Amino acid sequence: MSAPSISGAVPQKRRLLWRVYLYGVLMLLLSASVSLAVGRYVLQPAYEVPIRPSTTWIAWHIAAIQHEPERVQAELADLRQRVGIEVSLFDPAGKLLLSSASVPPEPLAAPKLAELLAAGTRFQGGSGGVAIRDAAGSFTNYVLIRYPEASPFGLALGEFAVALLVLTLLAVPLARSIALPVERLAHLTRAFGRGNFALRAGPWRRRDEIGDLARAFDEMADRLAVLRRAELELLANVSHELRTPLSRIRLALDLVRDGDTQRVSAHLDDIGEELLELEQLIDDVMTTTRLDLGQTSTPEGLPPLHCERVPGYQVLEASASRFRKKHPERELQCAYGDDLPEVCVDPMLVRRALDNLIDNAAKFSETDTPVELGAAPSSSGLDITVVDRGMGIGDADKPRIFEPFYRTDRSRARATGGVGLGLALAKRIVEAHGGSVDFTSQQGTGSRFVVHLPRAG
Ligand code: ADP
Repeated sequence: MSAPSISGAVPQKRRLLWRVYLYGVLMLLLSASVSLAVGRYVLQPAYEVPIRPSTTWIAWHIAAIQHEPERVQAELADLRQRVGIEVSLFDPAGKLLLSSASVPPEPLAAPKLAELLAAGTRFQGGSGGVAIRDAAGSFTNYVLIRYPEASPFGLALGEFAVALLVLTLLAVPLARSIALPVERLAHLTRAFGRGNFALRAGPWRRRDEIGDLARAFDEMADRLAVLRRAELELLANVSHELRTPLSRIRLALDLVRDGDTQRVSAHLDDIGEELLELEQLIDDVMTTTRLDLGQTSTPEGLPPLHCERVPGYQVLEASASRFRKKHPERELQCAYGDDLPEVCVDPMLVRRALDNLIDNAAKFSETDTPVELGAAPSSSGLDITVVDRGMGIGDADKPRIFEPFYRTDRSRARATGGVGLGLALAKRIVEAHGGSVDFTSQQGTGSRFVVHLPRAG
């Protein structure tokens, strides 16, 4: 059998999603800018800066030996062949004096020449210029030089490596901020699964999906703790209820053994009564458990019920006639007509829920006061009311009366019978039908319970 799945439980504010997305965009922008800046201000100059002094020296050297045609030609050819440097020498008027370039460059226009004169040298992107001055500082020549540029592929590779490095460094805090809390939660969940039910994620400052996960864990843990406590209480209560009839049976056996048949027969009636109550208790516990189990085992969360369409009137009449038979001394005021809407219910179970409510109304009120059973159609189905003019329920007890085995002190003191399962069972039965049970009560005045059942179909 496959586990029931949940859908649509997506947190509304996807803070983590947006954080990861924006952080990713920021990482890309940062790594791109850093790699561009490193290329422009570190890698490119790292290649070009060493070229400057050596190329300037070459320019001065060629200018110095310009009047030795053979030597200058030989050295220019050597330079071009060995290191790919082409040199062209101009006089201040722009006349080309000598060149090793296959296509000699154009002489510098006046503004460019003025710039070169002011700076002394100029190097950029594979070409440069050097202004030559004599010992007195007068401008005598200028040299235009072309040298091999840095490989664009090499530069791009360098920039890519820088970008990767930046991305790798920036990804660490993001990865840590997601992985560490998830690791902590996984650890917590495992420890909880091993039975350490007191563990909680605690107050998380994060307001994103991971914070949600931690809060959901705590909610689940609280709920499981309540269920577990209820389970232990149920076990303790059932065991407690078994003790009296068992000790009576033991006493009866001892008496039989002693041959005291007279006292045994006096006990047999009590034992029979206790056993009846015990059967009722076991039946109630089993139905409660079946309804609880059903909620977790069917995909819709509803227990398997044997539902059929019945007129609302019929449901109420069945309960009313049982009550009249069981409590002939009590007055039951019925306030409902025979035109009530149909409901789709498991008749046995719904009758049991109503029986519990009417029995309580009789149990917790004086015999001379009436019990009222009413019903009226509502917008969603049928509202059934059970009203008494009895002792009522105190404010402190109100939140707990639907808990299994919960009984108020006053009801204990009155020794009204019952073990505190009636309301818990009634609520489960009605909720299993998609309905609900509400009540209002005032101490000393009485209580009013309302069962809402959805309309059939
Ligand atoms: P039980 O009737 O077996 O004690 P229930 O689950 O039916 O258990 O009710 C739980 C408790 O709620 C009762 O013990 C009683 O204290 C209180 N209670 C229920 N119904 C009424 C009522 N109509 N008037 C006053 N108290 C009530």
